Parts: sequence; structure tokens; C-alpha cells
Amino acid sequence: MAEVTLQGLGKVYRGGTRAVEAVDLHVADGEFIVVVGPSGCGKSTLLRMIAGLETITEGTLLIDGRAVNRLEPAERDIAMVFQNYALYPHMTVFNNMAYGLRNRGERRRVIDSKVHDAAEVLGLSELLQRKPSQLSGGQRQRVAMGRAIVREPKVFLFDEPLSNLDAKLRVQMRLEIKRLQRRIGTTSIYVTHDQVEAMTLADRLVAMRGGKVEQIGAPMELYETPASQFVAGFIGTPPMNMLPARVSGGGAYFGEIRLTDCQQAEGSSVTVGIRPEHMTVEPHDRTPMLGRAELIERLGAETLVHVSLSHPGASVEVVVRCPETQAPEEGSAVSLNLRAKRMVVFDPDGRRVSEVAEAGSAEEPGAAEPGAA
Ligand code: ADP
Repeated sequence: MAEVTLQGLGKVYRGGTRAVEAVDLHVADGEFIVVVGPSGCGKSTLLRMIAGLETITEGTLLIDGRAVNRLEPAERDIAMVFQNYALYPHMTVFNNMAYGLRNRGERRRVIDSKVHDAAEVLGLSELLQRKPSQLSGGQRQRVAMGRAIVREPKVFLFDEPLSNLDAKLRVQMRLEIKRLQRRIGTTSIYVTHDQVEAMTLADRLVAMRGGKVEQIGAPMELYETPASQFVAGFIGTPPMNMLPARVSGGGAYFGEIRLTDCQQAEGSSVTVGIRPEHMTVEPHDRTPMLGRAELIERLGAETLVHVSLSHPGASVEVVVRCPETQAPEEGSAVSLNLRAKRMVVFDPDGRRVSEVAEAGSAEEPGAAEPGAA
């Protein structure tokens, strides 16, 4: 068990590509951190620097308070699980799992007991004599994790470990990883571009963009109060709705409609974000925001209503999440009700400028008010 601290960690590859810039992060003992972001944002580079597979060109990496920048991967007491499993094809499951322990010169009895314990935890006990080619993708993934577990490392690193699995198995393995980590409590850093995987696994998320950290926080914190339009758009499906607005008299206006309070400069342009579940559609003209229900997507547990809003100079489409019973007719005129307390305001650079709503206050409904801009 260990704490991991990144101080101004950066990477410039030979040839000059800057892949990671000034990352500060403290990972507590036993914490599950997920680094998430689109392809090319520097996630793998960051993980590989922690593993010791890439040199650190800037900053300091500490494990349990000790700088390990110059230590070889084997000396860092870290175990890494890759997406391609990296199992030895000619070895049995048992030998694949025992390999690292044998290399370390562990006694045979110890190896036997550790491999059997890990196999038990992972449901591999019946498969120990098989070769990797005789296993399903999910079982291979479990062997790869077993190999990491038997070493009892200070830290687990996961590099997109589920991306080679089909959708159903990915969901199942995601749950297994979560249960396993809860059970053995090893400090873990997990890299993925899949925001659902990130949301469900993480104690805290690190959202990256262009080599830099965009936001660090609990999954729901990033979901409810994204630091930027980038995070708002990346976390959550469908993404947060974005409405162009203009500031007037301390409010943000969408056309003639006052959406929410806003302290930005008079006349400036802002973007008001609101999640699909924080809006409702009404069949009649009870609220001022009028639109047309262009498309209804019935997903079973929920229904997504795509509403086009007419706005001077721009046509905007928003998605509203509602129960099936509240879904309007496709093609019908609807009005929208927006919870003002759940709105997030972004400046022209895409940074959040609205305050974080206080706990408890966010539940109050507050429809957008009509008013003159
Ligand atoms: P991610 O894991 O988020 O997809 P990477 O860490 O793989 O991102 O890559 C971040 C950036 O660094 C990209 O621009 C990529 O092209 C570059 N990069 C990755 N590996 C190398 C390398 N070995 N040499 C030079 N540039 C690299």
C-alpha cells in the first residue's frame, strides 16, 4: 500500500513533442484514480512515467514520500496491467501468474499459496493448467490481473485494460475490477478514454486535455460542476446542452429569456450549460422557451427528446431526458422548463465562471424567467 505524489510532472519526447505538462496530483493510500481524456491527451505517457517505462523529463514522482524518478520499473514496486494482457502463450495460467514471483526467487510453497489465493479471488482456480489460447478474453484479462495481484505491489497501474473486450464483457470486467480493488485496497491508477468506465471506477477522476490536467475531482463533481466546457462535453452521455447567451443586467439571456444570474461583463457572450435531466418538456405554452420535438429516442428506462430551439441568429438543439410517460409527440411544439440552479455558465474561453451551487440548494426547481434583454 502506498501514496503516490506527482509534482509538476512533465514529459517532452526526444524530437520535441510535449506530451505531458506540469501535472500535480496526490494519490492517497488505497485510492482508485482514473485518468481520462481523448486520444493523444497524454494519459499513457503519464502512466508510463509512473511505471518507469518512460523517463520523466520534468518534475518529481514520489512513492511513499520517496523520489523514484531514477529508479528502474522493477525497483518501484508497481504492477501494470496492459490492454493486450502480455501473457506468455507457451506457459500455463499458473506459470504466467507465478512468473514474477519465481523471478524474485520466492520459495515454491509461497508461490503456490499466493497463486492459488489470487486464482480463488479471480475465479481462475479451475483454469490453472490451461494455456492462454484456451481462455476467453475475459479470462485472459483476469490472468493478467492475477499476475499483478500475486506480486502484492504498492501500486497497480492499468492502461486501458478493457479496451480489447466486447461491450458486454467490458461492463462485467469493470465491475470485477471495482470489487477486486475494494477488496484488496491497493492504490490504483487507471487510464481510459471511456468516460463511463472512468465515472464508475474512480474515487477521483483526472480529466486531461492536450497534456494538461483540466480538472481533478470525484466523478459527480466533474459531472455536476465541470471546470470547463471541455469537461462538460466529455463527461456524460448525452453531453451537457450548451446555450449561447448574452449578459445583461446581471443575467445571462438566451434571446429574450433570462436563464440565470451572471456577473460577467455587461454585453459579453457566455455559454450556459445544462444537463438533459435538468430540463423538462411541457406540452403546452406554460413556459417561455418554445421549441419543436424533432426526434424522440426511446431507450427503455429513459426517453431522450431532441428539441430544436429557434434563437436569433442560431439554431440550437438540446436534448431532454424524461420518463416515457412525459415524452411529447414527435414533431409537436413544446416548451422547456430549465432548472436555473443546475445551470453552469462558461466564459468565451470555455472556463466555468458560475459558482458551485451549495449542497442542498441544487434540488430546488427554478424555471427560466421571461424578461427583456
Ligand atoms: P493518450 O494515451 O492520451 O492517447 P499519449 O500519451 O499516447 O496519449 O500521447 C500523447 C502525445 O505524445 C501525443 O501527441 C503522441 O503523439 C505523443 N507521443 C506518444 N508517444 C511518443 C513517443 N514515443 N515519441 C514521441 N511522441 C510520442
